[in-house]
Amino acid sequence: EQNLVEIRDLSVKFKLKGGTIRAVDNVSLDIPKGKVTALVGESGSGKSTLASAILKMVSSPGVISNGEIKINGEDILTMKQRELQQYRWSQVSMVFQAAQNSLNPVVRIKEQFIETYLAHKKAPEKEILERAAQLLEYVRLEPKRVFESFPHELSGGMKQRVMIAFSLLLDPDLVILDEPTTALDVITQDYIFDILLKIHEELGITMLLLSHDISVVAKVADRIGVMYAGKLVEVGDIFEIFTNPKHPYTSGLIKAAPSLLEDLEHTVPIGGSPPDLLNLPLGCAFHPRCQFAKDICKQVTPLMETVGENHLTACHLYNAARDERVN
Ligand code: SF4
Ligand code: MG
Repeated sequence: EQNLVEIRDLSVKFKLKGGTIRAVDNVSLDIPKGKVTALVGESGSGKSTLASAILKMVSSPGVISNGEIKINGEDILTMKQRELQQYRWSQVSMVFQAAQNSLNPVVRIKEQFIETYLAHKKAPEKEILERAAQLLEYVRLEPKRVFESFPHELSGGMKQRVMIAFSLLLDPDLVILDEPTTALDVITQDYIFDILLKIHEELGITMLLLSHDISVVAKVADRIGVMYAGKLVEVGDIFEIFTNPKHPYTSGLIKAAPSLLEDLEHTVPIGGSPPDLLNLPLGCAFHPRCQFAKDICKQVTPLMETVGENHLTACHLYNAARDERVN
């Protein structure tokens, strides 16, 4: 299995008045080619910051303080402005959270397709529109009508589908989707995920999907990473994660997700409050909420360890097993 993106020891820091936040803290992650990888975690867990680092577009005052991000073996972090301009959209594109609102309200969709394309590559307008029409059909919109529309003439779900079509315009290898359906109703959500799966299957495109909702990604992802307080705490293939979660936070997310359980009454919310990033507890940041916390959890930060095929987690419950093997 080939990796399209390889992230190693990536950290992104934000210097704020109250102190420094490690929004992404030493994360290593592979994004396999042709697969859908999902990153799950509460808002503030670092998913969006990690994704913006892949585009080298971390917003100020965020700084990538260490690490490496390679796409097709090429290091993104050393790219110059000119190379980045080429790289964005044509190798990696991103549909930002609430992207529907980022369409220009006074410009017809047709013109927006042309402008977006020409900002990165040259081509005759006719060719651009042919490509755009094809993509609109992919997202099940009627090109003739949508081309002539202004954004306010489209529903939220239609605008989101236009944004997905935009993200595919320059034929990228990777599309990142940040909470692509969060603002939409459930039926529209399902519809959009259907469309994404279809696009993924037909174009073989690699996707990175960010969501706070583990039950949403269960339907589409091949592989899933769970983030907590800036760290990746578990990663594995989707079936493995759902049938054999190792990290207590991952199990907590699964137990708290109503649509994954047949019996709604048995959902259990994760107790305690989300971490204060300016004041992270020592050791494992999850320990104040973890029913399995041991003394070591309050002192020592657990590292990622292999716990199965293609399956890693950062939790002291599994170090013990390793130590026994070593001894
Ligand atoms: Fe719980 Fe300790 Fe594992 Fe953290 S390292 S999740 S506190 S058992
Ligand atoms: Mg986010």
